[in-house]
Amino acid sequence: MKSWKDNIRTVVPYVPGEQPQVDSIIKLNTNENPYGPSERVKSIKLDTDNLRKYPDAKSSLLVDKLAEYHGLKPEQVFVGVGSDDVISMCFLTFFNSDKPVFFPDITYSFYDVWASVYRIPYEQKPLDENFNIVKDDYMQENGGIIFPNPNAPTGILVGTDFIEDIVKANPSSVVIIDEAYIDFGGESVLPLIDKYDNLLVVRTYSKSRSMAGLRIGYAMGNAELIKYLNDVKYSVNSYTMNMPSLILGSAIIDDEEYFRTTLAKIISTRDKFSADLEKLGFTVLPSKSNFVFASHKTVPATEIFEKLKEKNVYVRHFNAPRIDNFLRITIGTDEEMTKVVSLLETICCATN
Ligand SMILES: *Cc1c(COP(=O)(O)O)cnc(C)c1O
Repeated sequence: MKSWKDNIRTVVPYVPGEQPQVDSIIKLNTNENPYGPSERVKSIKLDTDNLRKYPDAKSSLLVDKLAEYHGLKPEQVFVGVGSDDVISMCFLTFFNSDKPVFFPDITYSFYDVWASVYRIPYEQKPLDENFNIVKDDYMQENGGIIFPNPNAPTGILVGTDFIEDIVKANPSSVVIIDEAYIDFGGESVLPLIDKYDNLLVVRTYSKSRSMAGLRIGYAMGNAELIKYLNDVKYSVNSYTMNMPSLILGSAIIDDEEYFRTTLAKIISTRDKFSADLEKLGFTVLPSKSNFVFASHKTVPATEIFEKLKEKNVYVRHFNAPRIDNFLRITIGTDEEMTKVVSLLETICCATN
């Protein structure tokens, strides 16, 4: 029997972390930033009358602001509805070859979903036994390369030279570096975009800029890459960026001092929390992000996950090969992490 179901674009979707709609929990499962936007940004009044009009399709307010902040020309910046939208557009635009796109086996779990939904061939390159990206794996013929730096959910950073070697070895592929977590202590490869026309750097407002709810992400590269991205974007949906996002997203860039202060707090909380976890018998991967990826030497991750949830603490567990005994724990405020440490003390030490 023929059915309309034979003609459907079926796909196994990405599963986001839970978003319980209550305030009484400690929410450490989706790498949100606990500090929120600055008081100045919170006090901005939006002119809702303006919402009857379409927003500026070129998003110039935001694009120009980001270009100025990063010392680029506006033609080198592409903005989207979160970096998920930006990266999805990148898959559609740049990964258009019969050869497989390369990314790690353990990485942001949206990459294989986009490859699947767009019918792009891909190969997942295994991280080594210490969860490091293996550079040589990215030196074979491919249809494009993408990975986060620092990688997620491991939190492990690679250096600029490591990425430059890969970009240099792949002149016929676009290499996308997803810098969602770079502000938490990593060195950006942004300076390399002037040297290599096949490198694209992607950032998001969701983590370091504490505005996941606003949905802003952006890509930076040479003007030709950005032009091709815009051509595809204008062929799908011209008005992706709404007016409040353009206004608030551009305003927050002026709060550099607040930005640096909150980043420093998260980094110091992370380093203290990592040390506390190690004292409790956890193996903690060296993190340069706003989360840690940790595994307890004796207590299974699923058991810790459930017990924390009973106490209204939400962390992330991935039921995937090699990492199913790890938990990814977002760095919240000092108070939140102190509470988590004391809960873990009970959970891990009572069972030992
Ligand atoms: C969170 C995250 C994103 C997506 O962030 P948006 O909220 O869509 O901007 C992209 N890549 C990685 C590695 C992430 O962790």
